[in-house]
Amino acid sequence: MIEEFSKLPGIGPKSAQRLAYHLLQAPAEKADNLAKAIMGLKQSLNFCSFCCNITDTVPCVICRDNERDHSKICVVEEPADILPLERTKKYHGLYHVLHGAIAPSDGIGPEELKIKELILRLNDGSITEVILATNPNTEGEATALYLQTLIDPLHIHITRLARGLPYGADLEYADDITLSRALEGRQDM
Ligand SMILES: [Zn+2]
Repeated sequence: MIEEFSKLPGIGPKSAQRLAYHLLQAPAEKADNLAKAIMGLKQSLNFCSFCCNITDTVPCVICRDNERDHSKICVVEEPADILPLERTKKYHGLYHVLHGAIAPSDGIGPEELKIKELILRLNDGSITEVILATNPNTEGEATALYLQTLIDPLHIHITRLARGLPYGADLEYADDITLSRALEGRQDM
């Protein structure tokens, strides 16, 4: 059990041990519920046929929602990226999950990502804006640039999340790249 736990992201050997002992001492029902949840994970979850997000219903709740703006697509790397964007309550369009970013050093090319699926969605003419919300790192930038070359000929407005200083950051400790991008992305006041 400890061995299996420590294979999970963010769980070191110590945390794995703590989790295993916690379950050992917990009521049987608790361990049972966890086991059932893990077993059900792979059986009931699918990819949404539109946005490729992980979902238990197809289309997913977001693609199905008619209250949302179906003319905008926000492209993210992972399903987990949707939640923080939703929490801002500033975005009411749709999403597209790539399931990764272009990383030649790890053998991940465009074919490994859900890019074909994205272009297919953009070809139906109802999308007016694509927001590229890939991560602000080398892989995320490479992916955004690659997508731009594919989307440009479709004459769809492309935007990229503004890159700047994280809220609460101290200018003195900001790294050069972050600070220069914050300068580049400056807005009128
Ligand atoms: Zn969906």
